[in-house]
Amino acid sequence: MNRAWTTLFGLLAALHAVPAVSAQTAAPPREIVSGVDPLQMGTDDFIRLADPALWTDLKVTRIEFRDDRAFWRLYRIVNLRKPTGPLWFVPHDNENAAFEAAVYAVRSYGGEVVAVEEARSVSGPDSRMNGDVAYGRSIDPNRNFRDDTPAYADAVLADLGSPARMIVALHTNEAGYDSKESTCGPPPPAYTGRGEISVLLCSDLYTPRRSVSGRWPFDDTDSVAIVSYLGDRAPMSGFCARPLADADMNIMFEHVVTSDGSLSNYALFRGLPYVNFETQDRGVLSEGLGDSRSRLLAMIGTAMARCAPIEGIALRVPERQRRGKHKKGR
Ligand SMILES: [Zn+2]
Repeated sequence: MNRAWTTLFGLLAALHAVPAVSAQTAAPPREIVSGVDPLQMGTDDFIRLADPALWTDLKVTRIEFRDDRAFWRLYRIVNLRKPTGPLWFVPHDNENAAFEAAVYAVRSYGGEVVAVEEARSVSGPDSRMNGDVAYGRSIDPNRNFRDDTPAYADAVLADLGSPARMIVALHTNEAGYDSKESTCGPPPPAYTGRGEISVLLCSDLYTPRRSVSGRWPFDDTDSVAIVSYLGDRAPMSGFCARPLADADMNIMFEHVVTSDGSLSNYALFRGLPYVNFETQDRGVLSEGLGDSRSRLLAMIGTAMARCAPIEGIALRVPERQRRGKHKKGR
């Protein structure tokens, strides 16, 4: 009897002690996730898209966390009707047409958007960089896919799934390109911009494949797909390279030897299906935004027709592409 009571009291004491012990030892939550009403958001990206019809069946959450020295704020926008589909990634908060294209794309094709909000710009002008750091320099959200800051990549890719959904990264850039950065001959005099993303640019890193027809949206040499490939392989070994070339896209083939911390490089080294579309930034008035958004959506349409998996079939990088062109006949 005594022994039974002792055991019972012991058990009760142990049960009682559990919450106190865990309260002392529990780590703070790694992420704060909150539901967001996109129509009530005060930030520019959402204000521009404050149309109730646009957000039907789209669920928006805000994800906030610290990773090493930085504070991050992301938005995840899931198509509840069609949660399968690509991951639409918009890392740069000041690339407004890219955000719009991502929201339109997730409506049309399903999947989810992950967009980075530059955490200090809630009421001010947007920035490309995340300046909300405890110390040191601002961080480029597309150079932060690094082993020493894994929480960031984990948060962005949390719903990638297995097999992985296709990742479509969307960007806008400054006009033109800097001829000093290019090794493929003198540019036409009209091209005197400051951007670095253009199908006219050749360098150790980039080999261009210019659209033969130059038909819209590729009449703009800054409207381009970037296809990354591993250093010891051929450009056409990149994910969906051949289908995009067959579609007569402007393509910049990116030769990757070591990762620069971008999601394209991160995906390449892990064999994840990834494509990246860029266009010129045409400002935040509706005409310019609409032009850039339409060009991104045109490229997205081609990729969805030619690169995306058929629903229900596992998406893997095709063996032919993984092995690379030089081993194709084997
Ligand atoms: Zn960008």
